[in-house]
Amino acid sequence: MIYFDSTATTKPQTEVLESYKVVNEKYWYNPSGMYKTSVFSKNLIDKASSNIFEELQVTNKKIYYTSGATEANNLAILGICMSYVKQDKHIITTYIEHPSVYNVFKKLEKLGFNVTYLKCDNGIVNLDELKNALTKDTILVSIMWVNNIIGSINPIKEIIEIVKDNSHAKLHIDAVQGLTKLKPNFSFNEVDLLTFTFHKIEGLKGLGALICDKKINLTPIIYGGHQQEEIRPGTLDPSLIVANAKALRIANSHLDIHLEYVRKLYNYLENELKKIPNIDINKTDAEYSPYLMSISFKNIKGETVMHALEQSNIYVGVGSACNEKNKTIERAVYAITKDETRAINMIRISISYHNTKEEIDYLIEKIKELGN
Ligand code: PMP
Repeated sequence: MIYFDSTATTKPQTEVLESYKVVNEKYWYNPSGMYKTSVFSKNLIDKASSNIFEELQVTNKKIYYTSGATEANNLAILGICMSYVKQDKHIITTYIEHPSVYNVFKKLEKLGFNVTYLKCDNGIVNLDELKNALTKDTILVSIMWVNNIIGSINPIKEIIEIVKDNSHAKLHIDAVQGLTKLKPNFSFNEVDLLTFTFHKIEGLKGLGALICDKKINLTPIIYGGHQQEEIRPGTLDPSLIVANAKALRIANSHLDIHLEYVRKLYNYLENELKKIPNIDINKTDAEYSPYLMSISFKNIKGETVMHALEQSNIYVGVGSACNEKNKTIERAVYAITKDETRAINMIRISISYHNTKEEIDYLIEKIKELGN
């Protein structure tokens, strides 16, 4: 199997699985209990959390563990907004966010919030558009670091400055596709709310995180016991947290070397694909992550291409894994092309450090056959 869909998910590291097993066998106790083993389980979580803060180089932050990035994004946005219902407040996001952000904003719009969707015609936020959109009533700005469909990289450093200098709004960044893949040109410390998820970084599924400024009081979106300050109640799994903290450390330690390798494969793939007449690469002159590339065939639907490649044992994505069942057009491709067919005909090729040049050559060969 040739896997080109690591944007959707990744295979856990063996070390991570082992760590899960070892910790789980010994410390399966409820970390909220009062007896010794529970306290020990809780200490393991606290230690893992400090390791995560260290990896992210943040101080004065708290962490809320969630089921994944979908829930972390919901908690960040609703956690800020729910205390302002019916107060005519303004919130800002982009037209090309992941559904776990975009659809929350759609819901908040229905609840009466004034929403600005930044267009991202060029694949990224236009800084003047952002600056002009901010008002004294803006309470939240939510913008992704790396787009999960086309791979465009937002200028987060500049976005942080603009939001801080021109408003009192909190800034939420969905860092899912950037974390451990790209070197940030900004400090995670400067971000009020930061989302990520471990299954994208060779960790285990079922755990996401929201890093939140200590000064921020979120409103819970689910209600229950006293865990996680009652902001995100529910029993935590020490083994899942310890193992995933390890995944973050491993992925971070390989960032530079993997990035350099993946960039070479990406450049090679891009040059070869440019030679194929029936294909468009969905890209602008903005900066792009080498970990994913969106392309569209002129006359074949993305889903058809995906299944045709599957016949050759090649696995690619057809956009947001969360969107695959309902065949909506990919907003990000539409935003930069204004071409509905292109937004339907797209496939997403993800590259990881596990891929080889031979695999890329085989993919190109199969794409050529389909393109002719
Ligand atoms: N945000 C982005 C940018 C993503 O790519 C994804 C995963 N497709 C998510 C959020 C949701 O992550 P999870 O699968 O952990 O809910």
